[in-house]
Amino acid sequence: MTIKTNGAGDAQIVALPAPKKSIGDSALGTAYSQFDRAAQILELDTGLADSLRSCQRELTVNFPVKMRDGSIRRFTGYRLHHNSARGPTKGGIRYSPHVTLDEVRALSMWMTWKCAVVNIPYGGAKGGVICDPKQLNIHELEGITRRYTTEISILLSPDGDIPAPDMGTNAQTMAWIMDTYSMHKGHAVPAIVTGKPINIGGSAGRLEATGRGVMFTVREAFRAMGWTFEGARVAVQGFGNVGSITAITAHEMGCKVVAVSDVEGGLYNSRGINMPRLTQWNKEHNTIKGFDGADAISNSELLAVKCDVLAPAAMENQITSQTAASVRARMVAEGANGPTTPEGDAILSDKGVVVIPDILCNAGGVVVSYFEWVQSLQQLFWEEDDINSRLEKIMIRSYHDVKAKAESLKLDMRTAAQVLGIGRVADATMTRGLYP
Ligand code: NAD
Repeated sequence: MTIKTNGAGDAQIVALPAPKKSIGDSALGTAYSQFDRAAQILELDTGLADSLRSCQRELTVNFPVKMRDGSIRRFTGYRLHHNSARGPTKGGIRYSPHVTLDEVRALSMWMTWKCAVVNIPYGGAKGGVICDPKQLNIHELEGITRRYTTEISILLSPDGDIPAPDMGTNAQTMAWIMDTYSMHKGHAVPAIVTGKPINIGGSAGRLEATGRGVMFTVREAFRAMGWTFEGARVAVQGFGNVGSITAITAHEMGCKVVAVSDVEGGLYNSRGINMPRLTQWNKEHNTIKGFDGADAISNSELLAVKCDVLAPAAMENQITSQTAASVRARMVAEGANGPTTPEGDAILSDKGVVVIPDILCNAGGVVVSYFEWVQSLQQLFWEEDDINSRLEKIMIRSYHDVKAKAESLKLDMRTAAQVLGIGRVADATMTRGLYP
């Protein structure tokens, strides 16, 4: 066992034996590998560990949708409940051509640990439909969403499983889900989804919550490590909900956003990108490509930009055995779920890069989803300032909970977050007892 410091005065890194049950460079391989490491540290009973590692319920649905040209197309979707020991299951719905059952398994598992790390009373779930939303018109998207909702409705309820947006879905998708579920019930059920539009019961601050939460956590980490936050150079991969809000919030907090990217490529400006202008450009063109206030770079060049904070906020498996060596950031703040593979993690740790792991860093979305659900159930709405300050408090508290775990057990921040989250779920499971 080797023990060393990461050069930043932060947690010590303990190298453990390589995990036994990995399935390679996939999201599920990453999730299993992280889980096995934490389970070993927690010395979990092997039967309990095997149960926590598995999804509680998995539903695959195949359904026909009438397309605009009159043809009928079959779509496949999933809804998985990973674990409900700590409460109703919660997790987004992803629309992407790359969705697989294994990917949804990994994402649902991360939701369970994430809700436990920030200590909100939820279990983990996730869903997805294999489709390319960019190739579908709004009527086809609505048809897919309504039929998918109907197919998975046996798993949904405001007390049991509450979806939210993820990659490729948004507030409009949530409105269709809420309407479909409500039509079946015969009355409005706003608490069935979060991330819905404000005019039908959505929460102020939910749209911005994930990106805001990322930057609240980063600012607190800088404070804790005695680094200067004002003027910190930030690079963000992905310019969707999480990436764009992370970049805008960083700019508003006084950081310098030097690079951003979306699926079509990246932008770099060493003096800092004018974020209000770029946001306007993105609104008008639906891409950041072609913006004249920065130089074009590739996505791999973005990962290698010299900066203080690199925030991968697009998708899984971006910082890997192939790309981690090129990272020149002092800190990686994971806006996306699973952007770093275990091999990528090991390389970052060798380089002394501080990682704020996904299940902590991007938890702001599910925290404000929790606030939205509470508001929907109570039919009582909170002011945005109140929501943001409650969010900030939870992100700061959770950062320190993870940091304290890292220091007391001499772990890196990712393993500490996993140990904290998995430990809380294991405790809840044993406190409830095993039925029957
Ligand atoms: P989104 O669909 O709004 O945006 C995704 C962005 O990533 C787009 O800008 C797209 O162009 C870009 N992208 C896709 N492939 C890319 C690539 N290869 N290189 C660079 N950019 C690429 O999705 P989102 O909701 O912002 O989710 C992004 C990530 O954050 C996902 O991992 C998601 O699971 C995670 N997440 C989302 C939320 C949320 O509240 N939406 C909460 C927590 C975590």
